[in-house]
Parts: sequence; structure tokens; C-alpha cells
Amino acid sequence: MTYSYDDQNIFAKILRGEIPNNTVLETEHCLAFNDIEPQAPVHVLIIPKGPYVCYDHFANAASEAEIVDFTRTIGEICRLMDIGPGMGGNGYRAIANTGKDGVQEVPHFHMHILGGRDLGRMLR
Ligand code: AMP
Repeated sequence: MTYSYDDQNIFAKILRGEIPNNTVLETEHCLAFNDIEPQAPVHVLIIPKGPYVCYDHFANAASEAEIVDFTRTIGEICRLMDIGPGMGGNGYRAIANTGKDGVQEVPHFHMHILGGRDLGRMLR
């Protein structure tokens, strides 16, 4: 596996405390914060603290503890934002843009959680 992590990306700077963020939740291995340009009433980004470029990098290289923490953090964000259907919410969309074809802007793995309105069809 060859992934080159750029430690000057904006999320790396957020993790180092070099630029501010609007934190929703912090865990041992993850940070969840509001997107600076929200596309929906709920738009939270969940990132691992480790230097992973994209989802498949994370899925293949992260420890089980990091993967469990990341998944549980998504569950907790859905609970905190009242969007989980099992908790009376109206649902949400989880998006991990990846690489060139996925039009990933920030090369630090992140999951978008969008909700709070009807998001329409995924792709037109
Ligand atoms: P992506 O295209 O999946 O890489 O999305 C990157 C996301 O990061 C976009 O939705 C941006 O609005 C968001 N973003 C960029 N800079 C910041 C920042 N400083 N704080 C919060 N979100 C940001």
C-alpha cells in the first residue's frame, strides 16, 4: 500500500490546534466538528486523529481500536444530532469522498454526516 500523507492539510492543522474548529465531539481516536460550509442543517465531519489519507487507507491500515472508535463516533453523532431513524430521527447521508474521481478536497480521511432536511437522490 502506498499512500502519501500531507501533514500540511487543513485537518492535520485542526488536529494540531493550529487553526480553530467547531468541535461537536472528541474521543481518544477521533474528532467530530461542524463543516465550515454546511450543505444541510446538520453537516458534521468525523475524522480519525491518525494520518490516514482516505477511507480505504484507514480501513486497511488503522488499528481495530481506531476503527471501532470511528464507527462508534458516527453512531454517537447521529444520536447527538437526532438524525438516527432508530431514535426517531429522519435519517441522514454518510459520504466519504475519495481521491480524484471522488472529488476529495482535503487529503485526510473524513466522513461527512449530512441531515436535517430531505437530501434528494444521491446522484442525478
Ligand atoms: P471533501 O471534498 O470531502 O474533501 O470535503 C472537505 C470538506 O471540508 C468541505 O465540505 C469543506 O467545507 C470542509 N472544510 C474545509 N476547511 C474546513 C475547516 N477549516 N473547518 C471545517 N470544515 C472545513
